[in-house]
Amino acid sequence: MNVSALQEVASSDRDVPLGYLVSDKKKRVVPFSPSPLKNSGKINPSEATKIFVQKHFPGTTADNWNDWKWQIRNSFTSLRQLAPLVELSGTEKQVLFSPGVHLPLRVTPYYASLLTNPESGPVIRKAMLPGIEELTLSPGEQADPLNEEASSPVPHIVHRYPDRVLFLATGFCSAYCRYCTRTHLVAKEKVHFNHDWEQAIQYIRQHREVRDVLISGGDPLTMPTSMLKHLLTKLRSIPHIEILRIGTKVPVVLPQRITPELTRMLKQFHPLMISIHFMHPAELTPETAEACTRLADAGIPLGSQTVLLKDINDDVETMKKLMQGLLKIRVRPYYLYQCDPIPGSAHFRTPVSKGLEIIKGLRGFTSGYAVPNFVIDAPGGGGKIPLIPDYFQGRTNENIILKNYEGKTFYYPDFE
Ligand code: SF4
Repeated sequence: MNVSALQEVASSDRDVPLGYLVSDKKKRVVPFSPSPLKNSGKINPSEATKIFVQKHFPGTTADNWNDWKWQIRNSFTSLRQLAPLVELSGTEKQVLFSPGVHLPLRVTPYYASLLTNPESGPVIRKAMLPGIEELTLSPGEQADPLNEEASSPVPHIVHRYPDRVLFLATGFCSAYCRYCTRTHLVAKEKVHFNHDWEQAIQYIRQHREVRDVLISGGDPLTMPTSMLKHLLTKLRSIPHIEILRIGTKVPVVLPQRITPELTRMLKQFHPLMISIHFMHPAELTPETAEACTRLADAGIPLGSQTVLLKDINDDVETMKKLMQGLLKIRVRPYYLYQCDPIPGSAHFRTPVSKGLEIIKGLRGFTSGYAVPNFVIDAPGGGGKIPLIPDYFQGRTNENIILKNYEGKTFYYPDFE
């Protein structure tokens, strides 16, 4: 697919929030160059990315490629658009050629470059490209498995835990994960909710027990900087709000978004933390590393969230590589989630014992910092429940019996 065809697709794309449809007014055109973009404030493309751009986006300027709004405008939104990049599998072709089947898809050009890599391609594809399996509903699957609607006292707020709330600021994401818990939201709403935040902010103002706000969606970092700043300013002005958090996958799928302008803005709102959704070590590219470095240099503590996914990251070696790689780019592994039972997700879900096996394979065998908390977000709205391998083996009258990471037994004196 050539660039003009892609731009044509993008200009007719109704999935993009309005702000991104304004045409690029930049006059300066810089050809895509193999030399680094020194001091430009842009994310430098890796060698692999440069080869991808030259092959699949010939004529694209470096300015365009490094412009996050260009990335959003030129995202792939159908299997037909992706077909020239990757040979579609049988299950993907079934989606493409089944009349009346429309499964939402969105992949940025940058993230699509990982699809063409022979090593990372198959796993990224499984996570991002729709397959016909998604149409099979299995027992226990629900559109809103965490029952967030029941814990939503006002629009865009989920208040489940005593001292913190989830603020769903937008329904838009720059890439759709097939296993997304909020697929019912991101696949349908596709807009920023800024016209409608006031009631949510008012709720937080009235609830003095709330000391922590997690801004999520959708992906909050897909909002224009001024819009996000407006929300952070409103929340920071509430005296009882101690910490602000943002949940995002943008540094992974759209690292160009992490501009100096954004980090300068974010650092005004400390203490501010960011949880980044990582899936596989293939996502640890030079671009993503640079994006995370910029956020960390702005003083923002970074944590990771990873969903355990069948045939994608469900083995100890892959998970160890991911967790150790995250520490190298200053992201602290935080949560490993059991995949939520959303409709058509059976092909992604592993037995819970697999997650325990992975934690057992990490704990003791690598730095404690590289071991995330394995949790199930309880269906129906019970919140996150931690799962820990059986290190505690029972007790005698005077001791508790413990097993260490090597399976050796130890006794610790413990008197009640
Ligand atoms: S980035 Fe997060 S919110 Fe967006 S589709 Fe993926 S899992 Fe869902």
